[in-house]
Amino acid sequence: MKCPFCGDANTQVTDTRENDEGDVVRRRRRCVCCDKRFTTHERIDLKMPHIVKRNGNRTEYVRNKLLASMQLALRKRPVTTEALEAAVDRIEARLLAVGETEIPSAQLGDLVMKELRRLDKVAYIRFASVYRNFADVDEFSSLVREVQPQSHSRSRGAPSSDKSDHDLFGE
Ligand SMILES: [Zn+2]
Repeated sequence: MKCPFCGDANTQVTDTRENDEGDVVRRRRRCVCCDKRFTTHERIDLKMPHIVKRNGNRTEYVRNKLLASMQLALRKRPVTTEALEAAVDRIEARLLAVGETEIPSAQLGDLVMKELRRLDKVAYIRFASVYRNFADVDEFSSLVREVQPQSHSRSRGAPSSDKSDHDLFGE
C-alpha cells in the first residue's frame, strides 16, 4: 500500500482491528519514509444495489456521497468520524442484505435517518427536515418535539432549506 502523502511503497501496519460485525478490517499504517499515518479499510467486495431516485433515475451507490451528506447533517456536532464510518458500514450491510440490484432512494433515506437518530438528534432533525417532504408543519413539529423534549433552547436548530446540499446522491 503506497503512502498517500509521499508515494513511498514502504508502509508498516501499526494496528489492525475489525468492526463489531467483523466485516470490515481497519488497518492503521505508518509510512516508513515520511512517518505520516493513514488508515485503510478492507471490506468484502459485494455489489451494492443501484439507487432509484424519486424521478425514476438510477444512480450508482457511492459511499463518499453518502458520507458527505451525513457529515453535512452532523456539521459541528460532537460525533466522531469513527462513529459515522461505523454507521455507514451498517447502512451498507443493510443495503446488501436486501439482495436486490436496485432499491428506492427513500429506503436508503430511511436507513440514514435511523442511523442519524442514533448518532445525534440534531443531525437527525436537520437531515429529516430536508430529506423528507413533510406533508405539513404539524408533522415536522411533532418530530422535533419527539427528539427534543426540552425545546426553546438557543438557535432552535432551524433546518437549512438548501435542499441540494442534502441530496444523498449528488448530481
Ligand atoms: Zn510517506
